[in-house]
Amino acid sequence: MTALQVEHIRHAFGSLVAVDDLSLTVEDGEIVCLLGPSGCGKTTLLRIAAGLEPLQQGRVLLNGEVVADRSREVPPEARSVGLVFQDYALFPHLSVVDNVAFGLRGRSGRERRARALETLELVGMAPQAAAFPHTLSGGQQQRVALARALAPKPRVMLLDEPFSGLDAQLRHRVRDQTLHILKESGTASLVVTHDPEEAMFMADRIALLCEGRIEQFGPPSALYYRPENAFVAGFFGEINRLEAVTAGQQVKTPLGALAAEGLPDGTAVEVLIRPEAIRLSPLEAEPADGSGFARVTAARLLGRTSLLHLNVVNGSIEPVHLHARVPGAFLPAENAPMKIELDRSQAFVFRRRNEGETAAAASIAG
Ligand code: ATP
Repeated sequence: MTALQVEHIRHAFGSLVAVDDLSLTVEDGEIVCLLGPSGCGKTTLLRIAAGLEPLQQGRVLLNGEVVADRSREVPPEARSVGLVFQDYALFPHLSVVDNVAFGLRGRSGRERRARALETLELVGMAPQAAAFPHTLSGGQQQRVALARALAPKPRVMLLDEPFSGLDAQLRHRVRDQTLHILKESGTASLVVTHDPEEAMFMADRIALLCEGRIEQFGPPSALYYRPENAFVAGFFGEINRLEAVTAGQQVKTPLGALAAEGLPDGTAVEVLIRPEAIRLSPLEAEPADGSGFARVTAARLLGRTSLLHLNVVNGSIEPVHLHARVPGAFLPAENAPMKIELDRSQAFVFRRRNEGETAAAASIAG
């Protein structure tokens, strides 16, 4: 069943359109991440789903029931949504268990406490039930906030940048715990984040937004391996960008020709190549027959991978500077010649966008 459905949401602040005809669903037990750069409308959409921002256009449904449309607006407290924000906003004068019990209306004191303890158990915070928030670490406070939102068994959890208040190391641990807690609770969840790695870590599906619109909505692997436009391809980490022009349904690059099916000759395109798509093997010497090769201009160990700066030369084709990422320590000397191969599943060709054109309109798979 579909837990949350937003349909054709449009929302403007004065002349600024923050959300533009946006539709998406979150299925039961599913985690969907709203991902995108700052100001693309993620928080506004979440607030509309929660009922914290009055609906202007479109519809919001929870478990198939309309909670907001042109004629009705169910208030946030009656929507059965669990909210978790960046600042956990725990009540400082209430113990952990009382914080969690707070939102459990319409039950006896004993029932509220029992449900609060049960939820604290789920998030691994039962031993701290009697503690006060100021005595807890940031990660623990986040788990209490999660428990407080989960305790009333909401139809959907809405989380806005829930880990951004935590330092890097703690963030990794807490988001891992949160993933398990959300999955164990089985609650449909919509999580706002601007961090692509976090979205890939958390999400069953990602909705990648730009300027209030969805650029692509699907499983992380689809966005990574089958991006529908250059914005999507470039959002998940560093990517090499080359400019080229099509000829005979192809683009020629120093790494070989790439398919550009459906594009007329002379179309200006952008070629995007992930650094890990470049395979290198040492050569004794630069090829004498003028065939393509790469010359190493710098090599740096980044930890789990090595980053190689390359100058790729191939006959009369304009040479290009590219970055390659190789697993482990691979640190050839400066100017070393390398045989270069391309994993074409991680190289993409898109028509170059004109000024004001949307990404989707300029897309063509490579
Ligand atoms: P961030 O990650 O920076 O929070 P976001 O993707 O969540 O960004 P929103 O907070 O939804 O984006 O904002 C979308 C746009 O709407 C931004 O340009 C923002 O400045 C604007 N905006 C948001 N809330 C208001 C408001 N109450 N009044 C006026 N403009 C607003």
